[in-house]
Amino acid sequence: SEALLEIEDLKTYFPIKSGLLGRTTRQVKAVDGISLTIREGETFGLVGESGSGKSTVGKSIVRLAAKTAGTVRFMGEDLHELHGERLRQLRPKLQLIFQDPYSSLNPRVRIGDAIGEPLLDHGLASKSDVREKALQALESCGLSAYQADRLPHEFSGGQRQRIGIARALALDPKLIIADEPVSALDVSIQAQIINLFRRLQQERGLSYLFISHDLSVVEHLCDRIGVMYLGSMMETGPREELFRSPLHPYTKALLSAVPIPIPKLKRERIVLKGDIPDPSNPPSGCKFHTRCPFAVERCVHDAPELRSAGGGRQVACHLA
Ligand code: SF4
Ligand code: MG
Repeated sequence: SEALLEIEDLKTYFPIKSGLLGRTTRQVKAVDGISLTIREGETFGLVGESGSGKSTVGKSIVRLAAKTAGTVRFMGEDLHELHGERLRQLRPKLQLIFQDPYSSLNPRVRIGDAIGEPLLDHGLASKSDVREKALQALESCGLSAYQADRLPHEFSGGQRQRIGIARALALDPKLIIADEPVSALDVSIQAQIINLFRRLQQERGLSYLFISHDLSVVEHLCDRIGVMYLGSMMETGPREELFRSPLHPYTKALLSAVPIPIPKLKRERIVLKGDIPDPSNPPSGCKFHTRCPFAVERCVHDAPELRSAGGGRQVACHLA
């Protein structure tokens, strides 16, 4: 099927102000040359530890973070070059959902109105049918119409995430970027929300960019997965292959920490030493070399390219 979102060599660098006068002396290469494609109806899981730049990828796509270089094409158009009427038409088709929808909900606005507001803003509903559309979105997300006049604080975390999803869904998007949408929830509630994402995808042919630090979360939802570390893509590939036979030492380490035992899989437990290095001062060569149990001399000087490993897979490692 067709490419819905195409990101090419995306770079997002942030200046760091330091020194007595706040002069800019360094920059964080939060996203340092990421490419990925999401096709219609597909779910792409972007995984990595906090500080890997995965959230910045999501924010850069919708221009909540200003990219430094690269292109973002959405529905065949350069999203960052669009303005005027065409941007107005396309922008609702791409929605962002955050970890904590509470922070994006006004505590004094009833949730029916919170869902209706963007519909009116985008001209996708009139004053006479906005209520009906908001109620439909609520019900699609497993909430009841009678809850529409309640305030955000009257809902549980899981319900609030449903409200966040309903608010995005009301705009009839093609792609939803979901940044850690279940990370704040209990495991049992996580499964419910994941099932909701899956059902909405089946019903509406939605695509997702699903951002998570947790591989066990993306396993149940994603078609393809990309693993990020310090702003770079370490490995990408179809979910099954990546889970069955990870190629990159970092992917292997992340997978070996997934608590769910998978029969027939013998995984060596790989415990990474230390924390993710300071993104403003990443290691030379392979950025992963300070934590990689397989690092050799070459890894310290030589940055591996992300290259094809066959079967739609890519890996950035000298030894893979
Ligand atoms: Fe480890 Fe070297 Fe591969 Fe980097 S290139 S992941 S340091 S073996
Ligand atoms: Mg994040």
